[in-house]
Amino acid sequence: AKAEGRCNARIYTTQMHEVATARHRLETDLREALSRHEFTLRYQPQLDIATNQVSAVEALLRWEHPERGEVSPLQFIGVCEELGLIDEIGRFVLDSATREASAWPAEVKVAVNLSAVQFRSGRLVSVVQAALARSGLDPARLELEVTESLMLEDVAAVRAQLLELKALGCHISLDDFGTGYSSLSYIRQFPFDRIKIDQSFVREIESNKDSLAIIRAVSGLCGSLAIKSTAEGVETPEQFRILEQENCDSVQGYLISHPVHAHQVRSMVDSFRRR
Ligand code: C2E
Ligand code: CA
Ligand code: CA
Ligand code: CA
Repeated sequence: AKAEGRCNARIYTTQMHEVATARHRLETDLREALSRHEFTLRYQPQLDIATNQVSAVEALLRWEHPERGEVSPLQFIGVCEELGLIDEIGRFVLDSATREASAWPAEVKVAVNLSAVQFRSGRLVSVVQAALARSGLDPARLELEVTESLMLEDVAAVRAQLLELKALGCHISLDDFGTGYSSLSYIRQFPFDRIKIDQSFVREIESNKDSLAIIRAVSGLCGSLAIKSTAEGVETPEQFRILEQENCDSVQGYLISHPVHAHQVRSMVDSFRRR
């Protein structure tokens, strides 16, 4: 048993070593990714149910690594936050999204995801302002998506920045609603223009009565507070039909379109105009 124990310990440390090496390699690669131009954006449409037109597209970050291939943001955003790289990457996303969106039809807004960590430096508002100035994009066409994790930050400082962003003319969306620290008091305290209902509720809309009840409640709340609602992760016509019936304002998901390249946005918008 003793020999076996020693052997297990050796395997364990070898595995630990491999994990540490992989993490180190990821960190090194991430530090170099920006200067090597390995980051790019894809855009996924939000379809306005009332008009059946694309009202906005969400910018989704992609990391195209020469050996790793396309890496999901779920695998590297958290690491970037820990490494202090998120401000720089966030600036890249804001600059690229506003620049690319300035070439699209004026009725199409662009939604950009913000990490809660980007609210810590105190420079976010000027970064957004600079991106708008450089691109010439109408601030009313920029939606900033934040998540409930923001509520774990300095709430007064966050609120002040959100109000400044609103004063610039930008819109604020609450992303992934229902997955974090949802509280009705936040909705009253923060100036949200839109609530995005998380895809986990949409996925279960037909199979789970509670998910349907939550969607109905959130949609009703949005209606009474004059906040727009968007359902995420819509994959089937049946889900779409139910969301329409529940008075959701817009839908986003593979049923409408997968995320596309910037140069494909215009023709995608046009294809809905012809329907
Ligand atoms: P999110 O903001 O909730 O974005 C929606 C995610 O759902 C995207 O994953 C999108 O590709 C995926 N999706 C869209 N439609 C469907 C569908 O019908 N079914 C399913 N199963 N999934 C769908 P993606 O692009 O991998 O991004 C994952 C997350 O990474 C995002 O979730 C967001 O939290 C974060 N992220 C992406 N880009 C950025 C960025 O520029 N900055 C920051 N801070 N976070 C980002
Ligand atoms: Ca989002
Ligand atoms: Ca989301
Ligand atoms: Ca999400």
